[in-house]
Amino acid sequence: MAQQDDKFKKVIAHAKEYGYIFSSSEIYDGLSAVYDYGQNGAELKKNIRDYWWKWMVQLHENIVGIDAAIFMHPTTWKASGHVDAFNDPLIDNKDSKKRYRADVLIEDYAEKLNQKAQKEIDKARKRFGESFDEEQFVTTNPRVVRYRSDQREVLERMARSLDAEDLADVKALIEELGIADPDTGSKNWTDVRQFNLMFGTKLGASTETATDLYLRPETAQGIFVNFLNVQKTGRMKIPFGIAQTGKAFRNEIVARQFIFRMREFEQMEMQFFVRPGEELTWYEHWKEQRLKWHLSLGLGEENYRFHDHDKLAHYANAAADIEFNFPFGFKELEGIHSRTDFDLKAHEAFSGKKLQFFDPELNESYVPYVIETSIGLDRMFLAVFSQSLVDEELENGSTRTVLKLPAVLAPVKAAILPLVKKDGLPDVARKIMDDLKWDFNVDYDEKDAVGRRYRRQDAAGTPFCITVDHDTLDDNSVTIRDRDTMEQKRVPIAGLSQILHDKLDLKHWIK
Ligand code: ATP
Repeated sequence: MAQQDDKFKKVIAHAKEYGYIFSSSEIYDGLSAVYDYGQNGAELKKNIRDYWWKWMVQLHENIVGIDAAIFMHPTTWKASGHVDAFNDPLIDNKDSKKRYRADVLIEDYAEKLNQKAQKEIDKARKRFGESFDEEQFVTTNPRVVRYRSDQREVLERMARSLDAEDLADVKALIEELGIADPDTGSKNWTDVRQFNLMFGTKLGASTETATDLYLRPETAQGIFVNFLNVQKTGRMKIPFGIAQTGKAFRNEIVARQFIFRMREFEQMEMQFFVRPGEELTWYEHWKEQRLKWHLSLGLGEENYRFHDHDKLAHYANAAADIEFNFPFGFKELEGIHSRTDFDLKAHEAFSGKKLQFFDPELNESYVPYVIETSIGLDRMFLAVFSQSLVDEELENGSTRTVLKLPAVLAPVKAAILPLVKKDGLPDVARKIMDDLKWDFNVDYDEKDAVGRRYRRQDAAGTPFCITVDHDTLDDNSVTIRDRDTMEQKRVPIAGLSQILHDKLDLKHWIK
């Protein structure tokens, strides 16, 4: 745990030191759970967004992208169920005055049971070595069986109580399990209450005529209300998808994990419209496809897992999260939801407009079913950034800090470094930079010894350093150094652009 905390602190400090993430309005001591992206952060964020957009929209013939407004007609949120049901169960600790999500306290308790079971399994694996049969062990070892069944029972009871809106039972469960305030150990809890997460605002000049609006809590509804516009103007045939990236706002009860949970964040969502009855096949398809997208970045297969939901949202008939191994453990990174025809049907009912598709093959009209893939851009940023940050022990005994960002996402693709600040080397370096900058975000650095410049670029996440030395003046070649292997190769200046294209093209990443 302490190790996890240390790693997380390092991630936050590094993100600030290298111009990735700052606290919002820092000169006024910041604003809780709101962050600004700095010069490198804005580039990394843009590159993640592009990587998603290109894969989703450019590479899928039947998916198109839109950009809907943040403000939407207030009835949208009545129809979507957000006004009535976009709540989190909140609980306060009377002693510490700290506020928590009741469901998260219970889920954390259940996860501890899971970890205890895992510890027993790991111990047994060590003891039995090669002959260890995990399947048999988890079904017969009394301790593991008990931990696992307790975990299931706790989660099932919570799901039942939340479904029945029985908040008194949620509190009773917290008390029966002896769950204490994680910060202070106090068990002096208030009742559990529902809290709506939408931010309200007003549109209009005078108080009498102003309309109450909400800042959108998800981008999905902008897609649903435009379903027919896009289908008709794009002559789209089912199955087809509409993608969108953009800001969403939620007045989160607890937002203490840096950019993992913010009050203003960005989503990348895709709604895929299918024939009724075919939704579960498509749901499986998109689960598989989205994991493939994640794995293409090479952050390690072991850092992802699926979590199928027991407790389904009011609109869904199947749902799973792709969880990522963040510095504080496995947590949701992306949600894949089979949203049925709930949203389109609700918008039909509230607007009085038909939102249907005439299927020429079936010769009938229907309200399509929807599979949604929804990922937080900021969470994806945190996943990529935290996983990439490593301290590496070198052969000579020294250590270096490297930000091993996937090159396709790195803010700066290459740094051009003249070995010394004289003898005409800076002029050659500038010329290389002027050639490459049309296609790549490149940087020029001539300050300090070249070794220090390499370290600086390693820590900033730049995948390639191009060094101009005295031989360059004779043979028109330079060295190109790979951030991760530290290997240096001599290559002709004329071939640099092709080398970078080969390493950074989408084709190289998505297979
Ligand atoms: P959580 O259970 O963590 O609150 P959620 O299930 O409410 O998330 P969704 O409504 O499914 O999340 O939103 C889709 C995605 O948007 C999430 O997988 C996550 O990546 C991102 N997201 C949701 N809330 C936040 C937030 N407050 N800050 C940053 N990203 C968020």
